[in-house]
Amino acid sequence: MPETKTRGGVEFARPAAGETLVRARDLACHFEVSAPLLTRLLERRPRTMLKAVDGIDLDVRRGETFSVVGESGCGKSTVARLLVGLYRPTGGTIEFEGVDLAALRGRAERAPFHRKVQMIFQDPYASLNPRWRVRDIIAEPIRTHRLLTEPAALRRRVDELLSQVGLSPTDADKFPHEFSGGQRQRISIARGLASEPEFLVCDEPTSALDVSVQAQILNLLKDLQREYGLTYLFISHNLAVIYHISDRVGVMYLGRLVEVAEVGDLFARPLHPYTRLLLETVPDLEMSGRDRQPMAGEVPSPIDPPTGCAFHPRCPFANDRCRSERPRLRHAHGAAVACHAIEEARLPVDSAGVPLEGRRA
Ligand code: SF4
Repeated sequence: MPETKTRGGVEFARPAAGETLVRARDLACHFEVSAPLLTRLLERRPRTMLKAVDGIDLDVRRGETFSVVGESGCGKSTVARLLVGLYRPTGGTIEFEGVDLAALRGRAERAPFHRKVQMIFQDPYASLNPRWRVRDIIAEPIRTHRLLTEPAALRRRVDELLSQVGLSPTDADKFPHEFSGGQRQRISIARGLASEPEFLVCDEPTSALDVSVQAQILNLLKDLQREYGLTYLFISHNLAVIYHISDRVGVMYLGRLVEVAEVGDLFARPLHPYTRLLLETVPDLEMSGRDRQPMAGEVPSPIDPPTGCAFHPRCPFANDRCRSERPRLRHAHGAAVACHAIEEARLPVDSAGVPLEGRRA
């Protein structure tokens, strides 16, 4: 029997942690960024496609925080929007609880998915309707999904949600402009929780906030996850935030996942040459006094990505195979890594066979 719990007067089954909740296979999202048709015809130019996400495999386990990290423009926010159904994939599949989203037809079939999957956006200023009172902002998903219809029960539920995110029920009658950035993000989280979701996709939820407020929001998200068994997909370019919040991390480069590992392993033993480069740019999380190198080279354009391994123009280990053949994610040293040099054992290793270049001092 699955454990059950009550939220807002409604009883929900709480499935076992650890099983795969979201599975993406060969997921792709390409956007057309061509010049206008007439210009293309006159100049005999082909259509131009931007490969924001270019064939990734992803499994998010129930109850975990899976983070996606990478430089600006690597496609991580596109992954977030694909997984909540805001974008349609150009290729590949997304399954939620084993159901292929492409097979859901019409509003009625999609409604349970939209209730269970919610998104917290980066900018709490833009994501809340400035003309609505907080009570209506939070109550809207409850009404939409018909979780509660009786006005007194709806009111009690909004008050409860505000308390859960550290605000006061008296805040319900205010407008968004009466709150600070951190408080607005708390309102966004309360609204996100209102439909009793299982999967929250958080797209840079703290990057618009002051550093001191960032930690409070991250701790709130962790507390809510513990309390309700929530599963998070967390998007950030900030490795200190990723270190704090994640169970597992996927590193993206030019629309592809290049490494997936447990957070402790990734920071202690980054394997992929890009992950190592990325980690060189963050403050010293373990205060080891180690020197940091700035990130070398420019990220190539996703409109015309390099052949083979997209990282090869910046990689000190690149060879001819890297320039012509795209590496696939393969299991190595407890992680999944897409790198020919790791697969060919071209990097110097320690006695346990772990690449020395990947071990942080
Ligand atoms: Fe570098 Fe080659 Fe590995 Fe790409 S596949 S990261 S170019 S060694």
